[in-house]
Amino acid sequence: MKNHRWKKLAKWFVIFLTLLVVGIFSRYWWKEKRWRYIIVHHTASDLGNLEYYRRIHQQERGWDDIAYHFVINNGSFQTIPGQIEESNLWKERRRGYSTSNKWVNTFAIAIVIVGNLNNHPPLPQQYESLINLLVQLSKQYNIPPERIIGHREIQNTECPGKYLNMAKVRLDVKKKLNIKN
Ligand SMILES: [Zn+2]
Repeated sequence: MKNHRWKKLAKWFVIFLTLLVVGIFSRYWWKEKRWRYIIVHHTASDLGNLEYYRRIHQQERGWDDIAYHFVINNGSFQTIPGQIEESNLWKERRRGYSTSNKWVNTFAIAIVIVGNLNNHPPLPQQYESLINLLVQLSKQYNIPPERIIGHREIQNTECPGKYLNMAKVRLDVKKKLNIKN
């Protein structure tokens, strides 16, 4: 009788352990393995930094945070040109609001360059930071350069501006990753 009770308890314990392991693994997968694309944006304005856009997106758009995971600064608002800011969205691996497609926002890392890249190219420091960040994310999350995409390549927008050549961006990332052709 007693033996039977222990067996039952052991069975529940195994079920509990299995659920715990599956739970931990799926949480890890969701946070670190779900990223499939990187989408590049510009802010379409030469002023701002992470804090500035976070406030605008929260107050004017009603989102719970800034739309992007990373912000590449241009020196305005006492930032350093090329400085990369990481948002809480990224720290917590949450979905962004950078496109109007929920699916894309869920599986893509969103990077924004501060500046109106329809009027001028990014600063050399910003471009260098962009390439370095893309190389790092590409390696870390196993995202091939072909899946680094400018916002306008998937939606009807001018973002990230006509002065950012996405084919060149992908090529520069490929070079740094030592991928041939
Ligand atoms: Zn965009």
